[in-house]
Amino acid sequence: MKCTKGEEFRDGSLIPYGNIELPPSAGILNYGQGVLEGLKAYRTKDGSIVLFRPEENARRIKIGAERMCMPSPSVQQFVHAIKKTVIANKRWVPPLGQGSLYIRPLLLGTGSVLGLSPSPEYMFLIYTTPVKSYHKGPLNLVIKDELYRAISGPGGTGGIKSITNYSPAYKGLNEAREEGFSDILYLDAATGKFIEEATGCNIFVVKGNIITTPEAVGTILPGITRKSIIEIAIDLGYQVEERGVPVEELLEADEVFCTGTAMVINPVFSVTYNRTK
Ligand code: PMP
Repeated sequence: MKCTKGEEFRDGSLIPYGNIELPPSAGILNYGQGVLEGLKAYRTKDGSIVLFRPEENARRIKIGAERMCMPSPSVQQFVHAIKKTVIANKRWVPPLGQGSLYIRPLLLGTGSVLGLSPSPEYMFLIYTTPVKSYHKGPLNLVIKDELYRAISGPGGTGGIKSITNYSPAYKGLNEAREEGFSDILYLDAATGKFIEEATGCNIFVVKGNIITTPEAVGTILPGITRKSIIEIAIDLGYQVEERGVPVEELLEADEVFCTGTAMVINPVFSVTYNRTK
């Protein structure tokens, strides 16, 4: 679906997967004006298909769009478009226990813009692909010093799914993977004392009956899986604390796990912290 600045999104249509046309001067190509989402459709026991909390993604993309000076589809339009896309691709939803259908909504500034200002036109599109589990086995995370210590800072875009958040992480992530780690665990930019999140997931620390997770105050993505886990943990009788979590607390935990749409819940097997200072 498309829209012009100052107007609302008009309902779009289903088209076969293929290339999209953009002017070389498009806002997304020149200045990265775009936000993304990620959610999944699962097959249930009786063969029907369910979406995991799509309204949450609809609300999150609106917050991201607002931060990036973009219009966004209404929650209703978003969910309707997701459902239509999944129904059209239902043959790609794997059987129960064999994966899921990953759904990738993109909101892009598609209009021409040479100066530093929001694009005059926007496109919202969705594509899907079947996926299996993202990581093979438990995670071994590494905390890096200096260059790759933090991924976002106060006032930045760490609290939204901006398209510009991800490729700056490739360099550190490649380095970490070459060293045999699954991902980097980032610390807060200001002090480097508190854990934040990994490149594509949130983190939880378990000590006895207390489950602690960094507070989502703008520098980490408020994950939808994270929110669900907090609710479930409270229901199960755990005490859940959302607050600054010092690295030392993580290193003394009984258990650590990460959450995200791609991995769902993944145990953390080890955290390596080669502190040089
Ligand atoms: N943090 C970051 C940086 C992410 O990209 C993701 C994946 N969307 C998450 C956390 C987990 O969020 P969610 O549970 O909504 O997938």
